[in-house]
Amino acid sequence: MIRWAIIIGLICTAGQAWAGPADTKVKLCFKYEVDYRDRAVGDWTDTTMIARGVYFYVQNKTTGSKTFHWASKETGCTTLTLNARYRYSIRMQSKAKVTNDNIITLRVSPDNPINYGWTADADFSPMQKAGRVSTFTWPTHPGGDYSIRVSNIIAAASFSLHRRYGGLKNKTFVAYREPCNPSGGSCLKNDPNGGLAVFLSASGGTRNKFQISHEIGHLLAAKRNQNERTNTSGYGLTHQSNDKASQCADANDDYKHHFYSEEYVSSAANEGLAHFYAAAIWNSPNDNDCDWYSYYDGSTISCETGRKYLINTCYGGQEPKLDTGNELDWMRFWWDVHTDCDINFEPIMDIWDRSNPHKWKDRKVVRKIMRAARKRLNKKDYRCLKNEAIGNGVKW
Ligand SMILES: [Zn+2]
Repeated sequence: MIRWAIIIGLICTAGQAWAGPADTKVKLCFKYEVDYRDRAVGDWTDTTMIARGVYFYVQNKTTGSKTFHWASKETGCTTLTLNARYRYSIRMQSKAKVTNDNIITLRVSPDNPINYGWTADADFSPMQKAGRVSTFTWPTHPGGDYSIRVSNIIAAASFSLHRRYGGLKNKTFVAYREPCNPSGGSCLKNDPNGGLAVFLSASGGTRNKFQISHEIGHLLAAKRNQNERTNTSGYGLTHQSNDKASQCADANDDYKHHFYSEEYVSSAANEGLAHFYAAAIWNSPNDNDCDWYSYYDGSTISCETGRKYLINTCYGGQEPKLDTGNELDWMRFWWDVHTDCDINFEPIMDIWDRSNPHKWKDRKVVRKIMRAARKRLNKKDYRCLKNEAIGNGVKW
């Protein structure tokens, strides 16, 4: 206690000695308020999150001059020297620079590709704040528009890239607060302004942290694979019974898919990786539980417990004859590879990249993943991965 007080005292003294007559050192910290529907699911459940690496400017209200800054990616804080003779306004933007200088930028729409901004304090006086930490929190729906929830999106997206970046460096991740297509939904697709971008709908993408991380996971997987999306056969395959009441048959059109449905293996593996990404963002690999929020139906599913959904539930213990898969099995496979085989996220993304998902054909998906894993991993880790593939029913 005493030693800490002395250290703080020294910092203040030194700061005063360097500063000009009216210069004042001010520590600013930034946070996001979040109101996720799935807030309670997983191991990070707070109602506020650190605004890691958030981009902001400070504007001198008399001279109009602005200075731009990134908050610390660890603490969401920064210390600036401001002049106590002036008043300032502070504006946070929906943009953040996190680990390895990867940037996430949330934009209004492809036609209007600017960041959202929120004026945190329109009348900041350094004199009043000197020596104090000033914390600014971006509320979920400033101005009362409940559908906007920019803070929800930027908080989950920047936290995702902070925790799992798969070896990427200096990449820019673009997201839009606009649905994937006129009928809604969230997805990864071509950005009319170039490259790929995540599109997030008002109902799902602004409300569910798991869904935001899932879409970021698709974008990260594409960036790892030379900016190419997975070549999937779509979601049109239904379970052979074609019984619409069966959960295994939920994939009954080209756009809808479900956690439990039987799908072409290219689609199931692609979705399963994005589900695993979301699971690994919001769950600590060190506990022995893993909870995943299904935004398909609002239920909480274990990513740890349970195996072989496709074989056991859809096929009554028999192996399917088609080249099919199930998203849940693929998510649990990667989760077990990560937590039981202790294989880090980066080698998992290396395997993904080496399996060339942009060239997948259903018949060869499992073989390509296994071959890439055998080349990337040592013998012991490969054996473990292979056992998990068989145990989770993604390989038979
Ligand atoms: Zn997806």
